[in-house]
Amino acid sequence: MSRIVYVNGSYLPEEDATISIFDRGFLFADGVYEVTSVLDGKLLDFDGHAARLERSLGELEMTSPVTRDELLEIHRELVTRNEIGDGLVYLQITRGAADRDFAYPEGAAPSIVLFTQAKPGLAESPKAQEGMKVISIEDQRWGRRDIKTVQLLYPSMGKMAAKKAGADDAWMIEDGFVTEGTSNNAYIVKDGKIITRHLGNEILHGITRAAVLRFAREAQMQVEERSFTLAEAMDADEAFITSASTFVMPVVEIDGKPVGSGKPGQTALRLRDIYLDESRKAAI
Ligand code: PMP
Repeated sequence: MSRIVYVNGSYLPEEDATISIFDRGFLFADGVYEVTSVLDGKLLDFDGHAARLERSLGELEMTSPVTRDELLEIHRELVTRNEIGDGLVYLQITRGAADRDFAYPEGAAPSIVLFTQAKPGLAESPKAQEGMKVISIEDQRWGRRDIKTVQLLYPSMGKMAAKKAGADDAWMIEDGFVTEGTSNNAYIVKDGKIITRHLGNEILHGITRAAVLRFAREAQMQVEERSFTLAEAMDADEAFITSASTFVMPVVEIDGKPVGSGKPGQTALRLRDIYLDESRKAAI
């Protein structure tokens, strides 16, 4: 079934949507993106994603071709036109088309693309009951992981390495410490304390991470934002990940060894319930 997508001001059937071969997103991965979840036709954490988009653009000296309100309108229009109950809205802004040159072109008009992905039952994922398996790999990405750019080849390679090893994802390790998953933030739970890496240039500042940590603190759970080693993770009582599209997902195995009981942990499952409840209530 053909989707309606949004490209540079127009709503078009996906087969009619085009971008220039000179677009710097294509030539240099010179662009940023956001993924916003949709549950029951409503957007989760839209303002968080819009704020992070602004920040990513600012770090790359780009300006958004649309305002926050226009962006919301486009998201909603695509959800309606494509009859999305549960799913995702993908948004990408690149620096636009210009003759190929490493220096940023002056006066190029940014390209903006949005499309939906239907994911019926997104919040009812059986994976949350099973838990996921991760492998560890070296983090070989660039040093500005706080900017949500479309240069996702290394995370893609990590995902493939996980798949080949019979796992679901890879946790990336730098100087012995876990940075994050290929497309999610990483957490462990030890003696009742939730531990996740502090913010910095080394990880993406997850929108789900911010919400989950807020809910955890509101529920009087102990939270520690600091680096943790792979060895600590292997010895943890629980592990889990967060992202906009997986919410909170338990991790039950690391490098073939069970985490804690080898079953989804109570903290992760409770946080998943709280996150889904609260996010649905606040969805717009
Ligand atoms: N880290 C990385 C590397 C990611 O790609 C993502 C998801 N895009 C996340 C963390 C989670 O961020 P969010 O909760 O905003 O989806």
